[in-house]
Amino acid sequence: MTQRFELIRDADLQRLNSFGVAARARALARADTRDGLVAALDFAASQGLRVEVLGGGSNVLIVNDLDALVLQPQLRGIEWLRQGADGRIRVRAAAGENWHAFVGATLAQGACGLENLALIPGNVGAAPIQNIGAYGVELERFVAAVEAYDRVERRFVRIEAADCGFSYRDSRFKHDGERHLIVAVEFALSASPQLLLDYAGVREELRSLGIANPAPVDVYRAVSAIRQRKLPDPARLGNAGSFFKNPLLPADQALRLKIGHPGLPVYPAAAGLSKLAAGWLIEHCGWKGYRDGDAAVHQQHALVLVNHGHASGRQILALAQRIQADVQARFGVELEIEPRVLRSPVLQ
Ligand SMILES: Cc1cc2nc3c(=O)[nH]c(=O)nc-3n(C[C@H](O)[C@H](O)[C@H](O)COP(=O)(O)OP(=O)(O)OC[C@H]3O[C@@H](n4cnc5c(N)ncnc54)[C@H](O)[C@@H]3O)c2cc1C
Repeated sequence: MTQRFELIRDADLQRLNSFGVAARARALARADTRDGLVAALDFAASQGLRVEVLGGGSNVLIVNDLDALVLQPQLRGIEWLRQGADGRIRVRAAAGENWHAFVGATLAQGACGLENLALIPGNVGAAPIQNIGAYGVELERFVAAVEAYDRVERRFVRIEAADCGFSYRDSRFKHDGERHLIVAVEFALSASPQLLLDYAGVREELRSLGIANPAPVDVYRAVSAIRQRKLPDPARLGNAGSFFKNPLLPADQALRLKIGHPGLPVYPAAAGLSKLAAGWLIEHCGWKGYRDGDAAVHQQHALVLVNHGHASGRQILALAQRIQADVQARFGVELEIEPRVLRSPVLQ
């Protein structure tokens, strides 16, 4: 029988997480077929091992060695489907495809919509988990359905976008106890560009590139250029992007805060809520640029925690918890950690 998944025992996870923290897992399994994924899950069950799913590792904080089987879905493939009745272009991407490369591939085929989400690290399979978003666009706008292996019912399922529970940096997949292992995402993209340029310097970047009538691919390039300039490259400075979500508050509570702190950025959000800029709250508690050993808050981005080299996941988490307590004490606002915190209870 050919091996259906690759298995590495006592696996080193340091290069598999963008924080670059040192950690090991009892085992690491990689599978590039649906059968292989199921076989790896069965193997974990036969060994009594918990399973942790890992994509590109750019939105996790590993706190200690994992007494688990870490499973990396490596399914590849981009499939162009027949146009939907709504006239939108349908394309299915397998979970192991690199997100940024996939965005580039859609634009090369004249399918528009994902350009503002350029250069977000990670894989297609993780994109629905926190409904990735950037530069005024959230993934949910372009998802038709998610295909996943349901670990409870032990079968592959198709979940329509309306049933994915998408909201700001959130989806049902974040709350279903790892029930769904995503194997592919089907997108509904547009044949005609509807550019969103009024966000965080995109228009200015296009102007500086001398582009007066941008095409989606120009927006993709502009967003990539801004991100490369502004965000720390995990290959050089370990990080997981924004470490905290922007808090959502009832509008009246946000207004009271704004009256007390006129500089606080407050944006209208869905369901009568207001969104506060977490970075502003952290900066105004004095944390920007703070460093404790190798665990630190980025010099330019109060929202980004970084690893200067040898910080452990535990040290980064401890720093995050101090920031949370401080923001709570000063502003009465609870900050929620954005990356998934991975840890083994027995080893704590
Ligand atoms: C420099 C930098 C900038 C970033 N900028 C942004 C940004 O602008 N917007 C944004 O939204 N995010 C951003 N992120 C966060 C991150 O890139 C995204 O969340 C991305 O989707 C994570 O993909 P990944 O493959 O690395 O997931 P991982 O970190 O490997 O996993 C993240 C979560 O998804 C789960 N998961 C992964 N694959 C699957 C699967 N196939 N099935 C089920 N569960 C799965 C994991 O168990 C984990 O809970 C940034 C990160 C970095 C380092």
